[in-house]
Amino acid sequence: MVETIARRPMPRSLYAATAPRAPETGPLDGDLNVQVAIVGAGFTGLSAALHLAEAGVDTIVLEASQIGWGASGRNGGQVNPGLKWEPETLEQAFGADLGGRMVRLGDEAPGLVFDLVARHGIDCAPRRGGTLRAALSATAEKGIRDFQRQWAARGADVVMADAKGMAKLTGTGAYRAGAHDRRGGQVNPLAYCRGLAAAALKAGARIFTDTPATRLVRGTGGWNLSTPSGRVTAQRVILATNGYSDDLWPGLRRSIVPVFSSITATEPLPPELAATVMPNGVVLYEMSASYVYYRLDDAGRFVMGGRSVLRQSSDPTDYRSLIAYATQLFPVLKAVDWTHRWNGQVAVTWDHLPHLHEPAPGIHIGLGYNGRGVAMATATGRMLARRAAGGGPEVLDLPVTKISPITGHIAWPLAVKGRLMLDRWRETFAA
Ligand SMILES: Cc1cc2nc3c(=O)[nH]c(=O)nc-3n(C[C@H](O)[C@H](O)[C@H](O)COP(=O)(O)OP(=O)(O)OC[C@H]3O[C@@H](n4cnc5c(N)ncnc54)[C@H](O)[C@@H]3O)c2cc1C
Repeated sequence: MVETIARRPMPRSLYAATAPRAPETGPLDGDLNVQVAIVGAGFTGLSAALHLAEAGVDTIVLEASQIGWGASGRNGGQVNPGLKWEPETLEQAFGADLGGRMVRLGDEAPGLVFDLVARHGIDCAPRRGGTLRAALSATAEKGIRDFQRQWAARGADVVMADAKGMAKLTGTGAYRAGAHDRRGGQVNPLAYCRGLAAAALKAGARIFTDTPATRLVRGTGGWNLSTPSGRVTAQRVILATNGYSDDLWPGLRRSIVPVFSSITATEPLPPELAATVMPNGVVLYEMSASYVYYRLDDAGRFVMGGRSVLRQSSDPTDYRSLIAYATQLFPVLKAVDWTHRWNGQVAVTWDHLPHLHEPAPGIHIGLGYNGRGVAMATATGRMLARRAAGGGPEVLDLPVTKISPITGHIAWPLAVKGRLMLDRWRETFAA
């Protein structure tokens, strides 16, 4: 399994074409003995590495491919607040203490991203223009109103927009309502990821790329990680492999569904068009079965993501329906070139919450951000760092659970197709 992801080039995304270069890294060469070894160089692994190195802990990162090769270098760049469950549901399910901490974690996660960007001078086109949850149907509007009520009651800067307000914010008349969540924003995700890596290196962490961890076993002096070019002994190990998890730890790969999401982007829009398409610097995601999300980036490119074929693809025919939808929302986009397309895997969990696992002493795992990982993976990486640096269970603001492989995991592509069809059917008849 590991060999299938090793030494793959970066996908030819918009971000690969525009992000500042990655810091120089290369494969592990020889054996090492360290305090903490992290597997995976995405937001989770690199945020953990940065916070551990800043705390003076001897830390290395092993990455099978390149920095940001996984979802962190391919995503929609939307810095979204909150978990998938609303505050009242979290507090009821987990109690006032843990539930309250989970609410705060989601509330504060975007701030952590923008603070790290500012503190480390990361050149990633940050913009905190807010996130829009957009409703096409009455059912979606009801959910959004409830979301806004709950967060506003907790002092968050979230306001409702009616159809007119949505048209003004977005430039399209498609939405009946939305919630403008001013905690959110956007970044160039690969640039952010590379910036985190540079900051972690500067703080003293070491990062080894093209270095898949192929085996993890307990040894006499700690945990032993095998790679094709050396062996690492570590007191503690953080697994930060998310939607690209393999069989390094039993059951982990099968505990998430690695659903694909596709993104396509235009050339920079001429200023007169950019003034009519998402002109206010907000990012948007639809509360609909199409799972569509979009934004205008710092150069004025329209970047839209949504449902994907269930395999790696940059074939133009696989992106036709996304472009058709974009031009339905914004007919002016018919006149522009769509220059980039790529896709990647989002880790979805059975309960739509991120999962923390500690399956053996010294093993720490965080994954399953359900499409909210720009902020949540960064925050989870910091939590895992605090725990791996010796903090007690109270440093974790998410429950630690047993790894539960999903029953019938092998059939996930079929299940995902079925779910999408069911969602669309529900939407058509409930609208
Ligand atoms: C198309 C797309 C759009 C998205 N849009 C958004 C969005 O707009 N906003 C948002 O908040 N979230 C979004 N997400 C989700 C977000 O990108 C992820 O939640 C987040 O990047 C997860 O970060 P991570 O570090 O946990 O995992 P990843 O970035 O996936 O990193 C895991 C890394 O582990 C490495 N790895 C795996 N196994 C091994 C091994 N055995 N040895 C060594 N290395 C290994 C992989 O090579 C990979 O680089 C999107 C995801 C996708 C795919």
